[in-house]
Amino acid sequence: MATLKKLFVDQLKDIYDAEHQIVEALPKLVKAASSDELKEAFSEHLEQTRNQIERLESVFSECGEAPARKTCKGMKGLLEEGEEAIKDESAGAVKDALLIGGAQKVEHYEIAEYGTLRAWAEELGLEDAVDLLGETLDEESDADERLTSIAEGGLLEEGVNEEATAGA
Ligand code: FE
Ligand code: ZN
Ligand code: FE
Repeated sequence: MATLKKLFVDQLKDIYDAEHQIVEALPKLVKAASSDELKEAFSEHLEQTRNQIERLESVFSECGEAPARKTCKGMKGLLEEGEEAIKDESAGAVKDALLIGGAQKVEHYEIAEYGTLRAWAEELGLEDAVDLLGETLDEESDADERLTSIAEGGLLEEGVNEEATAGA
């Protein structure tokens, strides 16, 4: 079990770093988004993310470890792609669709990491960690679904119509 505990703490440091990277990135997404609905979704997820960082600090403490960051290369890559989306020349609904696509990759990555962490916490008998990681996992899934519903709520059709009008 000593080995799984070490892997767990390593992975915890990885997601702790990833969440900090996300806190830096979300304000840029709020700024780049066109629709108020999308701006609001990103702003609210920023608040949730700060809370998720605090939950991770509680998990570190349950493990008897001080919170520490270890660069999450996966998140770094995803956010570099996100940066390209932010700089993209498209505008309005099309740009929003691009930002949503990038943000959903981030949510899916987090869902994978938290799913693994929660399973390992169960294996290690870290009961509070199981609950805390599960709460965050639910928030990431909700954030993902909210983005899907914004994208499906006419955003894409709007974008296509704008293009059709421009081309006419
Ligand atoms: Fe998160
Ligand atoms: Zn990672
Ligand atoms: Fe998230």
